[in-house]
Amino acid sequence: MEEIKIFAPASVANVSCGFDVLGFCLDPVGDEMIIRKTASKGVKISKIEGQDLPYDVNKNVAGVAALALLNAHPCDHGFEIEIYKKIKAGSGIGSSAASAAGAVFGINALLGQPYTPHELIAFAMEGESAASGSPHADNVAPVLLGGITLVRSIHPLEVIQLSSPSELNAVILHPKIELKTIHAREILKKEVSMEKAIQQWGNLGAFIAALYTEDFELMSRSLNDVIVEPMRSLLIPEFDSLKKSAIEAGALGFGISGSGPSVFALTKGDQIAKSVANALKKTISPSGLNYDIHRSPINHQGIKVLSNQ
Ligand code: ADP
Repeated sequence: MEEIKIFAPASVANVSCGFDVLGFCLDPVGDEMIIRKTASKGVKISKIEGQDLPYDVNKNVAGVAALALLNAHPCDHGFEIEIYKKIKAGSGIGSSAASAAGAVFGINALLGQPYTPHELIAFAMEGESAASGSPHADNVAPVLLGGITLVRSIHPLEVIQLSSPSELNAVILHPKIELKTIHAREILKKEVSMEKAIQQWGNLGAFIAALYTEDFELMSRSLNDVIVEPMRSLLIPEFDSLKKSAIEAGALGFGISGSGPSVFALTKGDQIAKSVANALKKTISPSGLNYDIHRSPINHQGIKVLSNQ
């Protein structure tokens, strides 16, 4: 194989009760990438369409992740990467993760699969680290493994792919405001009270149990974030009214996607997802804010191969 074209999907991290540990993969929203072998060694980003992002391999997360893989697995030729960007950087639905995961997935395929998807997470995380300053796997893991994932530990890296009921659907609303990840991090208090911690790990444990038993009512009661959302939601316009309208329209839960400004709702089935999307549109429209809205089942496959030659 000389060249591979892939779909690198967007993803939702945190998922209310799972700050920094839970994530799920989306379907119709994502970038396309072409990764091609080159005679000369090293990694080159040869094309970026759709957004103004760095071509420098040490600054673009796709380049950083690719170099991390090739450091561990040297070879006598190189690779060039084309990125067709649809996921806006900084929207909170894993734009950088899609590029980092896509690059290592593509190179691994062209090398004849020396690494498992689980092993690729570590390389993709190095790319993520270049974007946010700290390594995190909650977006790259669901993109590489598909479905819903739990990052039990970063050092050593341990990621678990969780059960995800086929009826589970997501609605994503991206209000087009600028919210820097660094600002969304700064607003967080460094300490958590015992009372809140107990509530949160109760919710996280119950949410995971509910995924396995397909108990949607338990899932709904557990999709609560008592630690991060009360602080971060202040940075997102209309958050409380959007949440109220999503829940009234039948959503199982509603929260901030990653560090925002995107917000997400989870629903049982596609029909409720449609109603939730309509309710969110109605609620946000009077504000005059620009926004994008997407509906998506959980993507169980993760990255998809579009073609290869
Ligand atoms: P998101 O959650 O949407 O990925 P981040 O804040 O984590 O948002 O990452 C976006 C940052 O990563 C931006 O500063 C962007 O310039 C940088 N970046 C570097 N390479 C890429 C890439 N290939 N795709 C998206 N963002 C990239």
